[in-house]
Amino acid sequence: MVHVSKIELRGFKSFGNAKVSLPLAQGLTAIVGPNGSGKSNIVEAFRFVLGDMSAKVMRAERFSDLLFNGGKDHRPAPFAEVSLHFNNDNNALPVDSKTVVVTRIVNRSGTCIYKINKKRASRQEIVDMLAPAVSSPGGYNFIMQGDIGRFIRMDTLDRRKIIDGLAGVAEYDEKKEKALAQLQQVETNLQTMSGVLNEIRKHMEELREARDHALRHRELDARLNQTRAMLLQIQRDTFERKLTETGERIRNRDEQMRELSEKLGQVDAEIQTHERKIREFNKFIEQSQSSGAIAIVGGLRERMGTLTELMGAAKREYESVCREATGVRGELEKISACRDPTTEFARLSTEFDKLRGEFDSLLQDLKDVKSPAKVGEILGKLRSVLNEIHRTVAGFDACIKQVLEVPEMEGKQGISPSKLRTRLATLEGQRLELGQRLKEYQRKISETKKSLESVTGRESEMLKSIQLAREERERLEGKARRVRGKAKRLGEELKALEVEVQGYRVEEGRLQVQLETAEKELRRFKVHAKPQPALAPAKLESEISALEAELKALGPINARAVRDFRTAERRFNAQNSQYSKLTSEKQTILNLIDRIDRKKGEIFMNTFSQISKNFSEIFSELSPEGTARLILENPERPLDGGLEIEAKPAGKRVRTGAMSGGEEALTALAFIFAIQRAKPTSLYVLDEIDAHLDPENRQRVAEMLRLSSKQTQIVLITLHDAMMAAADRLFGVSMDGSGVSRMLSVELSGYAA
Ligand code: ATP
Ligand code: MG
Repeated sequence: MVHVSKIELRGFKSFGNAKVSLPLAQGLTAIVGPNGSGKSNIVEAFRFVLGDMSAKVMRAERFSDLLFNGGKDHRPAPFAEVSLHFNNDNNALPVDSKTVVVTRIVNRSGTCIYKINKKRASRQEIVDMLAPAVSSPGGYNFIMQGDIGRFIRMDTLDRRKIIDGLAGVAEYDEKKEKALAQLQQVETNLQTMSGVLNEIRKHMEELREARDHALRHRELDARLNQTRAMLLQIQRDTFERKLTETGERIRNRDEQMRELSEKLGQVDAEIQTHERKIREFNKFIEQSQSSGAIAIVGGLRERMGTLTELMGAAKREYESVCREATGVRGELEKISACRDPTTEFARLSTEFDKLRGEFDSLLQDLKDVKSPAKVGEILGKLRSVLNEIHRTVAGFDACIKQVLEVPEMEGKQGISPSKLRTRLATLEGQRLELGQRLKEYQRKISETKKSLESVTGRESEMLKSIQLAREERERLEGKARRVRGKAKRLGEELKALEVEVQGYRVEEGRLQVQLETAEKELRRFKVHAKPQPALAPAKLESEISALEAELKALGPINARAVRDFRTAERRFNAQNSQYSKLTSEKQTILNLIDRIDRKKGEIFMNTFSQISKNFSEIFSELSPEGTARLILENPERPLDGGLEIEAKPAGKRVRTGAMSGGEEALTALAFIFAIQRAKPTSLYVLDEIDAHLDPENRQRVAEMLRLSSKQTQIVLITLHDAMMAAADRLFGVSMDGSGVSRMLSVELSGYAA
């Protein structure tokens, strides 16, 4: 353990301007001397270097009070200087030197200078270097004169803080302080940021409606475009499909037309063939009719007709002449032979009936006969029967006349018969001549008939050919008609197809334009929606109009709102993430503080329990039959409460505030020794701690100091022998007549005696 090997003073308080040196060593050093000689000033010199920075602690109002103020023989010191020489043989101090000299100098203006081995150093450097070896939390190892009771009277919290210091809580306090400072910084930042966030949030709220509005508009617009594109795609696909279908139809119809044209060609050729044949038949018929047998037959028939007519006329004339002649003859007969008319009448009736029977039978025959020769024969017979009938009828006339005109006739009989006979002769002549003519006609008719018969065979063959030709022609004409009908139908069909194709071509053109328009529009949309087959165009159209209506209803939009909102949002997010970071940072700090607090509690309790135990033991040693203990005001959270001392010297129960000076000193010393045992520090400087102790107690304390000085360096100011007897060495302090303190070494042997 490090110890102070020497203390040097110059210009410090009563020690004058010359350098005063006090050699020190391990163990117990006692400093003795009369009142006012300057003993306590030595304690203050130690504290000047090692203790608090505050001048007050050194009983001086001002730093200048620390400087030797001179006297009648001495000038005041311009500065005060104290050096402590530390033995560093075992390198307890982190300096590469066997002796480490720590110096503090203060001038009248209160300016302080520190030095380590004569080199300027900062106060902090000295603290850092010495603190681990010579720590003195609460100054418990520096007991100023009359100050021992301080530990008893002090605030319980301050007392607890001594334990804090020993336990090294301060280290954590520093950390905690740093953490708290950080926490405060973080909280300040959080507060600032929260304000900023609120500002941005407010701004965002202001923008939100317009932004939502614009976003809705944008969404609807996008959907509208999408839907339009979908519809367009469907339309385009439909146009494309229809175009393909129309193309197919056109090709199909073209094929049909080609087939029809081919058929029509064939039919036309057929018609021509038929017509050619018909013309041939016509020519044949014409030629057949206008030449050869038919022409001859025509001439003969004409001649036959003429002859038949002439013969008819001649026959009628002949018959008229015959009838007149019969009449005339009858009259003549009546006149010449006036016979009984009744008998005549009866004969005539029989005659008439017979003739009529013959006539009927001949007529019957004529109907059945086919050959012209037979017809002629029957006709001849009929003619003679008719002549007979005429005669009979004339007989009837004569009979009737005879009955009616008998008287008259008898008068005129003389004139009439001659006239009648003349007439009869004329008639007879005419009859003969006519008969001749009839015969002539008959002959000519026969001749013509013969000629006709000779050419009739050839004519009928010819006619048959003509007939055949006509039939064939008719058949052909029928065929031609049918074929023409077919051709007409084909033509009509062709025409209809042409019209149809024309229609399709128009449709094709229209679809082409529609397709191109749809594609152009689609490119404009730049949207490639896959049309869902389930969506019917009608549905899309109604969706489009719904969207358009909604868009229209939305009205004008503030396009900037979206951007402004986004900017604000980005700012908000950035700030917010910063805020979150800070929050988590805060949490980290809080956690750290919590950990620090826990660790503090742990190390505090560690040290406290040792000291507490030691305290009870030492008190019992110092005050036989007495008990004492340390009580934490807040055992749950010791660091939130103070430290109470409870002492019962020799069976008494005394409150700390009501202790006698001796009891106070004894209890305080027990406390100090308890600390020394738990956390020994290398140096104790104690100024008259034994002032109030009775000899018995002083003796026990002296013994304890002696034991303690085996482990630690103790510098003790005392006026009592028991203490001096316990010391390893003694120094005396005296003051000369000029008010300057002097050091003198005292032989122990002398004192011991
Ligand atoms: P006691 O036994 O009564 O406690 P002491 O030996 O402890 O006495 P100190 O208190 O150390 O005495 O010394 C006090 C003396 O130091 C006083 O007489 C005082 O005049 C003197 N002194 C104090 N400050 C100065 C100073 N700045 N310059 C000169 N002398 C001083
Ligand atoms: Mg004193």
